[in-house]
Amino acid sequence: MDKVDLKSLDMDGLLEFMAALGEPSFRARQLMHWMYEKRAASIDDITEYSKGLRQKLSECAYISSLKLRERVQCDDGTAKYLLALEDGLSIECVLIPDKERLTLCVSCQVGCAQGCGFCKTGTMGILRDLLAHEIVGQVLAVSELIEPGRITHIVFMGMGEPLLNLLEVAKAIVGTITGILGMSPRRITVSTCGVVPGILDLPSKAPGVNLAVSLNAASDHVRDSIMPINRCYPIAELVSACRKFPLKKGRTITFEYVLLKAINDSL
Ligand code: SF4
Repeated sequence: MDKVDLKSLDMDGLLEFMAALGEPSFRARQLMHWMYEKRAASIDDITEYSKGLRQKLSECAYISSLKLRERVQCDDGTAKYLLALEDGLSIECVLIPDKERLTLCVSCQVGCAQGCGFCKTGTMGILRDLLAHEIVGQVLAVSELIEPGRITHIVFMGMGEPLLNLLEVAKAIVGTITGILGMSPRRITVSTCGVVPGILDLPSKAPGVNLAVSLNAASDHVRDSIMPINRCYPIAELVSACRKFPLKKGRTITFEYVLLKAINDSL
């Protein structure tokens, strides 16, 4: 029988798992606390459990973590991390220091199907969506590596299109990053290439997070040529969806624009 990765279970899943082992529900809450707040790397680290319970759990379960494959320190202060997933695939995340802020840019898919003309990930195609615990795993793995630094902001701007993996992205945000790690949704930004149905869904799935839109052109003609998504959701539809995005006082939507020579750098 394959062992269960405890990180892959949400609170309901852990309650069910512990109940199946004949354990009371508070054991599931303890497990959540040890995995995400105490950062237990293995079941043996959970010293609050008796030796017998740790042994019983270890026979049928384990705690996964993302492993560092490579770290590249850039001259501008950013650091790139290549992390290994359990199935051997790799994902990237980037740590960006800026005065008091320490922002982690996370991935939500392995590769990306969107094929934006200016993006290296877009040339890979998509291999698979990340699961919620693999998204959170990036935050935990980099947090461990930068101790005693503390990640203050998270942006979904790494590999993949977050609004095409919204269920897992929202689970990661609501279930763990805000729910357990305690980060305010105001410090989290979801960046999209322009997936209109996802923009409309985001406020109900992950309330209070910021929206960023990778725009990169002011006309459909130019945007069509560098961002294939524009042929499905042209600029007028995109802007209309943005106008419906609920914004509290003082908050804005960010529009990103990469300047490409002789393509989108003139009026
Ligand atoms: S959506 Fe993002 S990750 Fe995907 S190809 Fe476009 S820029 Fe790259």
